[in-house]
Amino acid sequence: MTVRVRFAPSPTGMFHVGGARSALQNWIFAKQQGGVFVLRVEDTDAARNKPEWTEGILSALEWIGIARGSYEGPYFQSAYAGEHRAAARRLHDAGRAYYCDCTREAVQARTGSQYQGYDGFCRDRGLPPGAGRALRFRTPDEGATVVVDLIRGEPTFENKLIEDFVIARGDGSPVFLLANVVDDMTMGITHVIRAEEHLPNTPKQQLLWDALGVKPPIWAHVPVVVNEKRQKLSKRRDKVALEAYRDEGYLAAAMRNYLMLLGWAPSGDREIVPWSVIEEEFRLTEVNPSPAFFDEKKLRAFNGEYIRALPVDEFVAACQPWLTGTGTIAPPPWQPAEFDAAAFAAVAPLAQTRIAVLSEIVPNVDFLFLADPLIDEAAWAKAMKEGAAELLDAAVAGYTALESWDAESLKATLEAVGAQRGLKLGKAQAPVRVAVTGRTVGLPLFESLEVLGRERTLARLRAARLRLV
Ligand code: GLU
Repeated sequence: MTVRVRFAPSPTGMFHVGGARSALQNWIFAKQQGGVFVLRVEDTDAARNKPEWTEGILSALEWIGIARGSYEGPYFQSAYAGEHRAAARRLHDAGRAYYCDCTREAVQARTGSQYQGYDGFCRDRGLPPGAGRALRFRTPDEGATVVVDLIRGEPTFENKLIEDFVIARGDGSPVFLLANVVDDMTMGITHVIRAEEHLPNTPKQQLLWDALGVKPPIWAHVPVVVNEKRQKLSKRRDKVALEAYRDEGYLAAAMRNYLMLLGWAPSGDREIVPWSVIEEEFRLTEVNPSPAFFDEKKLRAFNGEYIRALPVDEFVAACQPWLTGTGTIAPPPWQPAEFDAAAFAAVAPLAQTRIAVLSEIVPNVDFLFLADPLIDEAAWAKAMKEGAAELLDAAVAGYTALESWDAESLKATLEAVGAQRGLKLGKAQAPVRVAVTGRTVGLPLFESLEVLGRERTLARLRAARLRLV
């Protein structure tokens, strides 16, 4: 039997990092089993779905390494409405489902609680279909539903505790629980690997598989992803969109490595490993069922390591979207004509060791491309204390007389200027750095001045000096 797995996102918003994690786990499992990965877009919630979200999911998957054309699909759930309705009819015709006209209020009045499930009032009334009548599944009174789950063992659910749940609404439209099962059947899915949030649905869905006469799939409910307060990652509170990480300058390789560590680890005390190792060593059965902490700080550190490991030319290429502004990435503060590729290439190795996400390249190099540096006023106030004006004068004099405009000479000159005033190099550097780059921190100063050139450096030092008059 060929293994067939599916990733079945609902296009109702940005693509959640937890979803990306599940997609990768499905992807690797399929590959390891010589199986097939199916992408199914669950687009039946017409009120919440938008086509642009679907496109967002496809491109985010592509970014993370699941490229269009390398999987089966995408199928769209909405195209299978006929199958969903036919299954509902079959269940009704076989006596496994019945029509019900109870209102929520009536059920509550009878059971005395809004939390108690449906009380089975219409079970044996034999109501024919009709407007406003929901179709409910007749849950067995006896026995238990045992779910075979590769991560959680065999969670067992007493059937008598499962209410007669709705499978089609009063307008005849099948609900998610049924549509999802029917699609999995239609698509020959053998393993359902999905988020733990769906575990409460699983016994109901397995009962539907049984009632429709098809062997249920093997399940694997992967752990919920939580923030540092152990709360489920939520789009209202946490940064959850894969696209947001991409646009901030996380590398796809770092991201997917990190996502695979949510609840699992490769052999030996390693975390940063080539994708080929993950593909080889990952075992769905080894995934820890407890909630997985999505540690943004750790991901950032990971990304920094991935950035530092890039060959310089790849680093330069990877920075391009932030240097030019493309797609959803905001343009930099300089004009395209002001950008100087050679100057960037000269400082790129210095920047590569200092940034953790690619978007941080912009504030590190903007001083090279802007006519005037963007002065951070707080930095200015901090650096331009007493004596700054005189120090800038001396720096201008020293730098004007400098024979060779190179980092070493620039440093020696400022060292001497500082020493005359009893200042260590660090202190002497501060006003120069702010005058030239606008900031208190950044790339190594003297290499920066070398690349910026004599004329522009001197002009900025003079302009700062004038501001201090
Ligand atoms: N469309 C469902 C979701 O996005 C997936 C259900 C499933 O994987 O079975 O949560």
